[in-house]
Amino acid sequence: MSKAIFPLPLPDNRKIKISDDVLQMLFSFTQDHKNSPESGGILIGRVLDCNAHIVVDHASRPMESDIQTRHRFVRKAAEHQEFFNQIWESSEGRCFYFGEWHTHPETHPTPSAIDKREWRKLLEKSIQDQNQLFFIIVGTTELVVWYGQRQANKDTFLKIGSYKRNEIQY
Ligand SMILES: [Zn+2]
Repeated sequence: MSKAIFPLPLPDNRKIKISDDVLQMLFSFTQDHKNSPESGGILIGRVLDCNAHIVVDHASRPMESDIQTRHRFVRKAAEHQEFFNQIWESSEGRCFYFGEWHTHPETHPTPSAIDKREWRKLLEKSIQDQNQLFFIIVGTTELVVWYGQRQANKDTFLKIGSYKRNEIQY
């Protein structure tokens, strides 16, 4: 585990940690060339028995059926669901849908009005009936993690922290 990567605190005092493998994978889709398309996928978490902290150790990559353009990523459910099911089975049901990630071609990413609308939709219709979800936007120098709760004010997403690309150990 790399020293530079610290866990991000949640409002309920639990912490989340994104594994180095997932961080490396997410940053591998950085839109740092003028033609690199927007990418995205789902995040899969696991609650640690010992302290109830959350580790995100799996994330899906863009799939063949997704739509990817410079400023748009549309995730189609089926292949990502299949990815989730495989991890669900191999972890014997000890994982959960944590949220979503996507990229932006900007240094310090912020969610667009469309992003917030999509995130709100996911929260209100969460398949696993979760009251909270997490959303990551991967910018060109850092990725930022936001947290949303069901039935909160529609624009309210709490920024819980960020990971800098140059702190990731390869
Ligand atoms: Zn966006």
